[in-house]
Amino acid sequence: MPSRPSAKPLLSEPLTPSRWWRHWWRKQTPHRQDRFAMLAPLIAVLLFFAAIGSSFMYLRLEEIDREQEAVKRDVEYTQQQIRLRLLERQEQLMRIGRDISNEEVDAQEFVSRAESLVAQHPDLQSVSWIDERRRIKASYSAPSLPTPLVRVVDTLLRPGGDTESTFSLARDLQQPVYAQPAGKSEVVPLLQLHIPLADRGHFAGVLLAEYSNENLLRYGVPAEVLAKYAVALLNGNGRVLAGNAGPIHSVGTRLLPWSSQSEAYEIPVSPVGNGLVLRAQAYRTSQGVIGSGLFWLVGALSVLTAWMLIGNWRHTRRRLQAQQALVSETNFRRAMESSMLTGMRALDMQGRITYVNTAFCRMTGWSESALVGHTAPFVHWPEEDRAYLAARLEDELNGRTPPGGFQVRVKRRDGSVFDGRMYVAPLIDAVGKQTGWMTSMTDITEPNRIREQLSASYERFTKVLEALDASVSVAPINSHELLFANKLYRLWFGVQTEGHEKLVAQAGVPTIPPSDETMDDVDAFAGLPTDSLTDTQAESSEVFVPELGKWLEVRTRYLSWVDARLVQMVIATDITPRRRAEEQSAAQAERAQTSSRLITMGEMASSVAHELNQPLAAISNYCNGMVSRIKGNGIAEADLLAALDKTARQAQRAGQIIQRIQSFVKRSEPNRSPSDVEHMVSEAVELAGIELRRRNVRLSHYVAARLPRLQVDPILIEQVLVNLLRNAAEAIDLAQRPTAQRNIELRVIPKLMDEKAGIEFSVSDTGRGLAPEVQERLFEAFFSTKAEGMGIGLNLCRTIVESHLGRMQAENLYNGNEGTGCRFSFWLPLAQSSIAQIGPANTPPTPE
Ligand code: ADP
Repeated sequence: MPSRPSAKPLLSEPLTPSRWWRHWWRKQTPHRQDRFAMLAPLIAVLLFFAAIGSSFMYLRLEEIDREQEAVKRDVEYTQQQIRLRLLERQEQLMRIGRDISNEEVDAQEFVSRAESLVAQHPDLQSVSWIDERRRIKASYSAPSLPTPLVRVVDTLLRPGGDTESTFSLARDLQQPVYAQPAGKSEVVPLLQLHIPLADRGHFAGVLLAEYSNENLLRYGVPAEVLAKYAVALLNGNGRVLAGNAGPIHSVGTRLLPWSSQSEAYEIPVSPVGNGLVLRAQAYRTSQGVIGSGLFWLVGALSVLTAWMLIGNWRHTRRRLQAQQALVSETNFRRAMESSMLTGMRALDMQGRITYVNTAFCRMTGWSESALVGHTAPFVHWPEEDRAYLAARLEDELNGRTPPGGFQVRVKRRDGSVFDGRMYVAPLIDAVGKQTGWMTSMTDITEPNRIREQLSASYERFTKVLEALDASVSVAPINSHELLFANKLYRLWFGVQTEGHEKLVAQAGVPTIPPSDETMDDVDAFAGLPTDSLTDTQAESSEVFVPELGKWLEVRTRYLSWVDARLVQMVIATDITPRRRAEEQSAAQAERAQTSSRLITMGEMASSVAHELNQPLAAISNYCNGMVSRIKGNGIAEADLLAALDKTARQAQRAGQIIQRIQSFVKRSEPNRSPSDVEHMVSEAVELAGIELRRRNVRLSHYVAARLPRLQVDPILIEQVLVNLLRNAAEAIDLAQRPTAQRNIELRVIPKLMDEKAGIEFSVSDTGRGLAPEVQERLFEAFFSTKAEGMGIGLNLCRTIVESHLGRMQAENLYNGNEGTGCRFSFWLPLAQSSIAQIGPANTPPTPE
């Protein structure tokens, strides 16, 4: 870009046209300047055309002028010749006339003299002597003419004709008179000369001479004039009397635009006057040919010039376009070069730096001038590496660099050193000759640091994975290749995939359909979006591995592996200790339940004793009565049988009580089975009835009809019911309610909880209800408000209910503001598939 002059000096100096022009020119963009520059040849060619055209015109006009001059000269000369000839004839004829007037010539003499005159001068056709009365005294005509007599009669005996009037004119003027009779078209017109004759001062007729116009032209006009011009004689009316009317143009001449009319010149032949006009028109054949040749040559040259101009123009346009493309390409490359982070350095064949890019300068901190033109050792070589770098440079110059590049240390200007990787490529010029080497350099300090960090983090990662007390393994689906296995996995299963596959199979993860040989490498989940697999939650299940004698919690998860393969990761955690603890606590809970039942029975011992006492006392009474009546022989056999029957029934009753207690306290394996609600309720009511009766409490119970069976352990549910009924009876007893208010109500009804079907058992009493502080701690173990209470009843009840996935709650009952007791209720779901965490079906053989 040309630097633009600042405005200030321009303003201070006067603005001359040349300055203005320069200023304007600099203001234009280079593109516009090129466009303007392209106009110059056009203007030159146009000027050239104008010059050629105008010089042609000028020459042509000159030539026409010259030609006209020549024609004029020649015509005048010719006229002179004809005039001289006519005057000469006139002279001779006048001499004859004089002789006639002097009467020296008679008719015969006249004819002979006329004959010699006509023979001498071919232009003269006839000579006649006519007397004053218009009679022909003598006449001689050239033999070539039509019959002279006829002619004379024709010409002279016609009154009022041309000849007659000329005759009169000659008589009147007494001077020779020329006439050009118009005549009929078919008659060859002849030029007439009337010379008056005098006889002693009187008019004595005329001497009539007739000239042939044709011959006058042929012999009067010089040959060179005839060769150059079309010469013609015309009468006063412009009719051609003799000669050519005009030249016929040659083809070449006709084509010239300005030669449409040839140069013509007319002049009256002087002694005759206006009756005879000499006309000449130039032939210009040869000149025309030369002129047109020149014209065509110039034309062709002009066309050639125009064609070259257009060609040049188009070429310039293409060059401009190419230049623009080049400029934008250069700008693009420059921008690319300065934006890229790779340093570029070119060396010539001798190892001299010929080029460095911006990035190279930026990386090293050295300016271009400090690098370009220098040879090794370069400024960016650290002193301690010089020997190594010199060897590398030697390799580089000999084309021995590894294709993957080599690592070097580079010193910055500030003395700091960074790691760089260099790649070398030969530098080939436009003709395919190697001119040096191009080295690209990238700063790999950051990648090196990242690599170190990565390897450190990988190390940490593997350390963590190795130290993990879970086995981690990754294997592709349907393949026996183990992609990853941590230490614990290797310890448990070795380096094969069997362990991984076994864990997957045992964990019940949706397994992959067995593939046949041909499908070996094909992803069995083909068509299934892997995202949906990898996004799903890890599946977890607990499996027992007999080979290890361990319980493992196995979690599996689909992953998209680093090579985009779908793989399965298995994490197995040893949960044997937890399982053992769970089993122990389950056993303890069971023992607690049994003990609780024993405690309940212990607490109920006096009631039970009292309950048993009744049938036993009755048996004893019946026996004593029968013994005394048998001793007194006062008993009939039928009475005895009835008494024995009553005794047996009392014994049965006692046996039933004992059996019920036995079955209640018996330590049995927890056993869930479809259990009849009504049966459970009646068993519990019977058991609790002993206590209730002792405490003088009434129980009313309602069980909804057609209740479905519950999948529960009936003994445990009975235990809960007995506990609640006993607590209710104790509360009523404690509240010392009058007999009318000593009521307990047990209701069993179907109920939905959280939209789940289930059965609710509720026990309502008429005790004092629950104090707030009691309500808070109700279900705590060993919380009791009773002097002899153990405080584990409700705690155990809730554990039992919740182990059956049920809910338990307590609430106070009010009548207005007055508390009228409380209501304990529990709900058990009807779900068939309630999965117990502790159950014989799921319980593995555990070492006791
Ligand atoms: P215990 O009966 O051995 O005291 P529980 O766990 O059965 O142990 O009961 C804990 C406490 O809850 C009792 O001490 C009592 O204060 C209170 N309680 C239980 N049932 C009732 C009830 N129906 N009415 C009032 N209080 C009750």
